[in-house]
Amino acid sequence: MPIHLLDTLVVSKIAAGEVVERPASAVKELVENSLDAGATRITIEVQGGGLQSIRVVDDGSGIPAGEAALAFERHATSKLTSADDLMSITSLGFRGEALPSIAAVSQVSLLTRPSSAQAGTLVEAREGNVEGRKSQGSPPGTSIVVRRLFQNVPARLKFLRSEATELGHIQDLVSRFALCFPSVAFSLEIDGRKALASPGTGDGREAAAAVYGANVAADLVEIAPDEADDATYRVSGLVSPPSLHRANRNAISLFVNGRWVQNRSLTFAVVEAYQNLLPERRNPIAILRIAVPLEEVDVNVHPTKREVRFRREGDVFSAVQKAVRSTLVGAAPVAAFRAQGQAFGSAAGLSPWRPPPRPSEGQGALDLIPWRDNAGVDSGRETPRSILPVLRVVGQIQTTYIVAEGPDGMYLIDQHAGHEQVVYERVRDQVAAGAAERQGLLEPAVVELTPALEAALKSQQETLERYGFDLESFGEGACLVRAVPGAFRSRPGQALIEVLEALLDGDQEQASREWRLAATVACHSAVRAGDVLSHQEMSELVRSLEVAQEPYTCPHGRPIIIHLSTASLEREFGRR
Ligand code: ADP
Ligand code: MG
Repeated sequence: MPIHLLDTLVVSKIAAGEVVERPASAVKELVENSLDAGATRITIEVQGGGLQSIRVVDDGSGIPAGEAALAFERHATSKLTSADDLMSITSLGFRGEALPSIAAVSQVSLLTRPSSAQAGTLVEAREGNVEGRKSQGSPPGTSIVVRRLFQNVPARLKFLRSEATELGHIQDLVSRFALCFPSVAFSLEIDGRKALASPGTGDGREAAAAVYGANVAADLVEIAPDEADDATYRVSGLVSPPSLHRANRNAISLFVNGRWVQNRSLTFAVVEAYQNLLPERRNPIAILRIAVPLEEVDVNVHPTKREVRFRREGDVFSAVQKAVRSTLVGAAPVAAFRAQGQAFGSAAGLSPWRPPPRPSEGQGALDLIPWRDNAGVDSGRETPRSILPVLRVVGQIQTTYIVAEGPDGMYLIDQHAGHEQVVYERVRDQVAAGAAERQGLLEPAVVELTPALEAALKSQQETLERYGFDLESFGEGACLVRAVPGAFRSRPGQALIEVLEALLDGDQEQASREWRLAATVACHSAVRAGDVLSHQEMSELVRSLEVAQEPYTCPHGRPIIIHLSTASLEREFGRR
């Protein structure tokens, strides 16, 4: 073939491939345009995995009638004029590529009106060409509908994953927007069902609640402000305390100057800050805003703008790590307790009676029963069973801990963690023997499922049934629960949703899925902190722990037992 210039449609389809890889990328570009237009309310509606239609409605500035068609021209933008502007970009878009790229691979209708204009403008485009423009009534703001995405690019369609996967990407993306822009009310509807709604109150914790649920959001810790006024990089946001963690790094969101970025090195900086605070292979939740001087960061690295380059990446890395670490050490008693023995006293409320720590002692007064990874449990010298001595229950404190006496001093047992471990081992053994306890419901419960959870249910139904669920499909987006694993204390609908979330969370190895499943069942069956236990119940729990295979850590890796030895008691009271 002789060398020739490609015609414009081919050129725009090639270019579109870089910007619009999948339905979620179209959503990203449209929402970024709405944000650049100053919207405070953005509604996203997706049909058929985004391939049938994507509709984004905003209450932003709108486009004047005379410019509405121009927006579909390649490199047409209102956000940048000179090359120098590239050094100081504050808008999310600037390349003027999104609308033409989307229009090259779909059919687009744009209805827009600036609040000052009398009427709105409707522009229709397909295959990259504007096919019509007319005046039409419209509320202030912009509404864009993208239909039949990729229908003219069969090669692209072939590479798309399942509808559930594509929807997962869209939901993830809108969640990040909601976290990044707490002042904007986002609403995502998938096939007519609400998948996400953030309140837009400007409160980061409320945005986090919309994404992760109210319980998780309430536990998040605010990043402590850096005292130095002249810090080049400012880090703010919310992070999980060490007691809250995830199987993977998906819940780490990094926003650089208001832009969600995926950056392995900064993600690692966050994980590093939790070193020695989390159980092995667990990851934190973090919502971090990093303010970087404009001239220190290049956002024009990738057509999708999801990567940025820092002039001094090492400095940004340490700023992030330091901000997170100092927040954790300052705020979380668990952190101090695991980092060094002495600090535990204050965490448990013993501090008023404790003398100042004597650093020469190293360990402090309290001896922890070893963790899984410390001496003892895994050393092979003794089996775990023989390590836990026979204990006499003394009582309960704060309706959370069981106080017991053993051959060498005092033992504190976290009642929830302990019971969780006992149930976890029982469930695991029963399922292995094909004899899970099943508890039939008098009245079956109907549970509504998001597409992602529905997909998890479809692929894992057999596993769920081995664990004691009895499930029946109940039309699109819903399922009927007839039985739940025995001993389940929470509401069956909620239980199913949490179990499905656990299946989705983290790596998709079957063994790891089953571990999460058993751990979730155990968590929901176990007594809670705050439950009043009778002496007999406490004794039964302690007896069960004595015969447990791993009585020292709960399935999530938290400690179950803390030991205060006779020797350390004597030392504390000045008897030796
Ligand atoms: P860019 O965002 O890089 O400028 P786009 O192709 O995404 O390029 O959009 C082209 C132009 O269309 C934008 O610069 C903006 O002026 C206008 N525009 C697009 N979407 C909206 C919207 N939702 N509200 C107001 N103006 C918009
Ligand atoms: Mg744009």
